[in-house]
Amino acid sequence: MRVFKLQSDLNDYLSRMRLRRRKIGLVPTMGALHEGHMALIKASREEADITVCTIFVNPAQFNNPDDLLKYPRSLEDDLEKLKATSCEVAYAPEASDLYDLDMGEQVRFDFGNLGQVLEGHYRPGHFNGVALVVLKFFNIVQPDITFFGQKDLQQFHIIRTLIHDLSYHIQLRLVPTVREKDGLAMSSRNRRIPEGLRPLAGRFYECLIKGREMLYRGSSVKEVKQHMEEVFKRHPELELEYFEVVDTFKFTVIDDIQNKESTALCIAGYLNNIRLIDNVMYI
Ligand code: AMP
Repeated sequence: MRVFKLQSDLNDYLSRMRLRRRKIGLVPTMGALHEGHMALIKASREEADITVCTIFVNPAQFNNPDDLLKYPRSLEDDLEKLKATSCEVAYAPEASDLYDLDMGEQVRFDFGNLGQVLEGHYRPGHFNGVALVVLKFFNIVQPDITFFGQKDLQQFHIIRTLIHDLSYHIQLRLVPTVREKDGLAMSSRNRRIPEGLRPLAGRFYECLIKGREMLYRGSSVKEVKQHMEEVFKRHPELELEYFEVVDTFKFTVIDDIQNKESTALCIAGYLNNIRLIDNVMYI
């Protein structure tokens, strides 16, 4: 596996590969890699000749400085995992390779409703940072195809919008969420959950499944929301930030399910100050 720290070196290498008509797959990550990330790498390896995994904890997408500080970092370990999955290229830059640290970043994105609801509402500036860094990677790597996880469903729609509205010729793939045995969506942040509290983390997924069942049986979205709030109130270590049912077509929050295929149940909250998010599609 080739490991690059500098975009100039990565560029040289990828230009040569492009001349040889190699199909390039891009998997952006923030490291602390787990099986969820590996599913993206594997999906890319199936479709692309060269998979480029970026490992970069992007300061621009953290609205909470403490979250950025505590975000797990394990580069050596990550590189080993990528090698074991036969990933061809890792790009793990310092912030100075991507940002002019004196200037700061000036550009702002407006995604309309998509950027304002759920994660957009509770993490102001988050999607601006995501869009900025992903566009940098698109321009640096110039991938033919790119892979994102369903775990961050709204982020996937942000990327879909960028690709569509800015006419990038990049194929976009959504990879299903990889879960622990109890259903907890794998996440780098899970490493920070104290062992004693770990069983409670499974409640997020349980709630989504229960909520979906309630909707199937005819409960209203309002009733399901009330149920979620009650479950979370029973556990002082848990805090519900939001539970919403959305139509993913335009990412509108809905009270009433119209189009089953595009409906998703989304949840976010805290376990002992660690922020967890998850979602399931209605069908
Ligand atoms: P992150 O390192 O958390 O920024 O995630 C990098 C990519 O991996 C994003 O496209 C995520 O949606 C995806 N991802 C993270 N966790 C999972 C998971 N449990 N299953 C599938 N994809 C995931």
